Amino acid sequence: MTVTVRFAPSPTGHIHIGNTRTALFNWLYAKKQGGRFILRFDDTDVERSRKEYADGIARDLDWLGINPDLTVAQSDRFAHYDAAVEKLKAAGLLYPCYETTEELERRRKIRLSRRLPPVYGREALKLTDDEKAAMEAEGRKPHWRFLLPNYSDDPFAPSRTEVHWDDVVRGPQTVDLASMSDPVLIRADGTYLYTLPSVVDDIDLGVTHIIRGDDHVTNTGAQIALFRALEAQPPAFGHHNLLTTASGEGLSKRTGALSIASLREAGIEPMAVASLAVLIGTSENVTAAPSMEELAALFDPTSTSRSAAKFDPAELSGLSRHLIQALPFGQVAARLSRLGIAGEDAEAFWLAVRGNLETVSEAEDWWRIVKKSPAEHADLPIEDREFVRAAAKHLPQEPWDADTWRAWTGAVKAETGRKGRGLFMPLRIALTGREQGPELAGLLPLLGREETLARLS
Ligand code: GLU
Repeated sequence: MTVTVRFAPSPTGHIHIGNTRTALFNWLYAKKQGGRFILRFDDTDVERSRKEYADGIARDLDWLGINPDLTVAQSDRFAHYDAAVEKLKAAGLLYPCYETTEELERRRKIRLSRRLPPVYGREALKLTDDEKAAMEAEGRKPHWRFLLPNYSDDPFAPSRTEVHWDDVVRGPQTVDLASMSDPVLIRADGTYLYTLPSVVDDIDLGVTHIIRGDDHVTNTGAQIALFRALEAQPPAFGHHNLLTTASGEGLSKRTGALSIASLREAGIEPMAVASLAVLIGTSENVTAAPSMEELAALFDPTSTSRSAAKFDPAELSGLSRHLIQALPFGQVAARLSRLGIAGEDAEAFWLAVRGNLETVSEAEDWWRIVKKSPAEHADLPIEDREFVRAAAKHLPQEPWDADTWRAWTGAVKAETGRKGRGLFMPLRIALTGREQGPELAGLLPLLGREETLARLS
């Protein structure tokens, strides 16, 4: 069977680096196995889900280099969930409950005081048809619970019922179905919680591996039972550790903090984000993988640690700079062209400046400096101005290449006796208007003799 994975965000906000970890674990897992990747929008909560967030998520994934083979939305699939509900009801596995939150809380406290596990006691299962009719007549609407298979004959006497799976990330796992309440699948207002639609979709779409955050480990026990109740073979599961901020807080989609969109806008390279999102919290060193193929080679889900991983956004800039400094022209040409950097000099220009950039878009500034005029008007002290003019007389004839700078400044040094900073800095300021920047040896051939002369005079 073709490996089929899915990334299933709810479109209720911008995805952040933690969601990206889930997306990439799936993407890289599928990539390594020659599998398929489905993007599924978990938008059964129609109030909070928004099309613009779904579009934003698709765009963020595209920017990261994740191209789904299929995109589906749960809001298009209600008929399938309704059919599954009928099936479960017919099998007596989905039952109506009428308790309010307060009633449930009161019962929970009583159970705790009796040293019983604080799980739902299935009281609603005892309701007769008349009692249910009376509740409905009072205007009470039921929520619906899935009857977990954690008993032999008597649902009121659950016994330890282990569900096992060999987790793709964590190795062998066990969950006891008697330690949990029958999960609510449908709320009193008729809306679906995530548990059932997810299982129905995973069955219908032929998902073979569910890889998600370890906050879902307990769900997995109930969902495996649900797969079986719907007469389907449960897929394989993997649960990776979650990322937290440097101070240990969970990341939230709603705050927009560390959203992929904001990292993109800050000019961070996508492979820097992807590398950190995947390699942090594993036994691999965090390095900047230049391509998805190279990241796939480093990716080993079993090397993921169990505890949450602290994520430091400051690490991103370093990884990003590292990638930019080695970024071949061919890989960046289209982006440069969108910044107006194109033509026969574009490649030589890129190679001259990339080592000096924090972000690719900073190249635009240097292109303007090279092609139009220095950044600021060179305000040199009088003796430097004279020095610069004298230096102009020693400019070699064209053609110029990477050695021209050395030849020229060698001659200037011999003539004027200046050296080091006293020699280079006035020339740098006169030519670029800045005290810092890319090697002048690379910029000089791009300026050309005529322009260089003009800037020195
Ligand atoms: N929408 C769910 C979430 O974001 C999906 C969980 C899953 O992958 O099954 O938590």
